[in-house]
Amino acid sequence: MKSVRVVVVGAGVIGFSTAVCIAEALPLCSVTLLADKFSPETTSDGAAGILFAAKFPDIPLERQKCWFKDSFDHLLAIAQSQHSPEAGVMLSSGWQIFKEVPADKKPFWSESVIGFRNMTEAELKRFPDHKFGQAFTTIKCECSSYLPWLEKRFRKAGGKVEQRKINNLQEVSHSYDIIVNCSGLGSKTLVGDNMVYPVRGQVLKVEAPWLQHFIRDGDGKTYIYPGIHSVTVGGTRQEDDWRLQVDEEDTQSILVRCSRLEPSLTKAKVLSEWVGLRPSRRNPRVERELVQLQGRRVPVVHNYGHGGWGVTLAWGTALDALGLVRQCLREKQLQAKL
Ligand SMILES: Cc1cc2nc3c(=O)[nH]c(=O)nc-3n(C[C@H](O)[C@H](O)[C@H](O)COP(=O)(O)OP(=O)(O)OC[C@H]3O[C@@H](n4cnc5c(N)ncnc54)[C@H](O)[C@@H]3O)c2cc1C
Repeated sequence: MKSVRVVVVGAGVIGFSTAVCIAEALPLCSVTLLADKFSPETTSDGAAGILFAAKFPDIPLERQKCWFKDSFDHLLAIAQSQHSPEAGVMLSSGWQIFKEVPADKKPFWSESVIGFRNMTEAELKRFPDHKFGQAFTTIKCECSSYLPWLEKRFRKAGGKVEQRKINNLQEVSHSYDIIVNCSGLGSKTLVGDNMVYPVRGQVLKVEAPWLQHFIRDGDGKTYIYPGIHSVTVGGTRQEDDWRLQVDEEDTQSILVRCSRLEPSLTKAKVLSEWVGLRPSRRNPRVERELVQLQGRRVPVVHNYGHGGWGVTLAWGTALDALGLVRQCLREKQLQAKL
């Protein structure tokens, strides 16, 4: 019999990854995923989905390396399996290029991706504004396919899904023993976390099937990521900007910047434009706490605030969140014995 009731709040890539990890690893828990928005309406759905990361300032580097590697290895196994087209996960090779030689020439994730090396002079010739570059193979995970695929996997493991908005954690504290908070930017109001803020991102999808390699400017603002059905070009990083509507000036700026890197893009047809708000925080919050809710101390596991790297770190942080749920279960057993 299932004895412990777990609710995961959030149906983006963090919520579904966490829910699948818990449901598959802990068959004695009954797991419900609750959210007001599901695919294709989450932030995760529009993310370019390239596996890549920058360092968070206050999290031990070893832990960040683990998050990246666990996610990479999980998605690599999918990319190299028969599930790849349905899950929207593919290998992607290309270049990250820099106008100035960066201080850190070997990012912390360089050993997790495939074939990381510096670009040769000959390769750099096609980018005359850039002095330095790195070539590697990473993964592109398209969440508009990956989220429905994860949802199927979650249901197969016995998980249940409910669509509703909650205004605070009290609303679910009576019905569940453990609450897992994966509400992204929603955590600002749901748990009153003022450290979470939006970083607005606008991207376009274009038809350019001749492009096979990704190109990312090291400043992180301009990128070209070929995908399964189209090429994602971007972008913008506008802090504390809550606008969800497409900005025509941003569209023009993206097209100009990307065509400078890849002139053939002037011939590409724009298929769609999209805006999303990255759930940013100085460091993602992956931790547990006991919260006093309706006269009871309820274990809450938080997993949110991944900023521009949520697709990259989803599986790794989900495994950490699973570890925190296990700790909650151990403490519950201990309490029951006392
Ligand atoms: C333009 C752009 C490009 C990006 N490119 C990349 C990339 O290449 N690689 C990468 O790794 N990342 C990328 N990202 C970042 C990535 O999209 C995010 O880090 C990731 O989607 C965060 O996932 P999440 O599950 O935390 O949030 P979300 O996808 O926003 O999901 C949050 C969920 O919580 C639910 N929720 C919130 N509040 C409540 C509530 N009160 N009640 C019920 N449900 C609630 C929502 O309905 C939703 O289901 C990009 C982002 C943008 C905007």
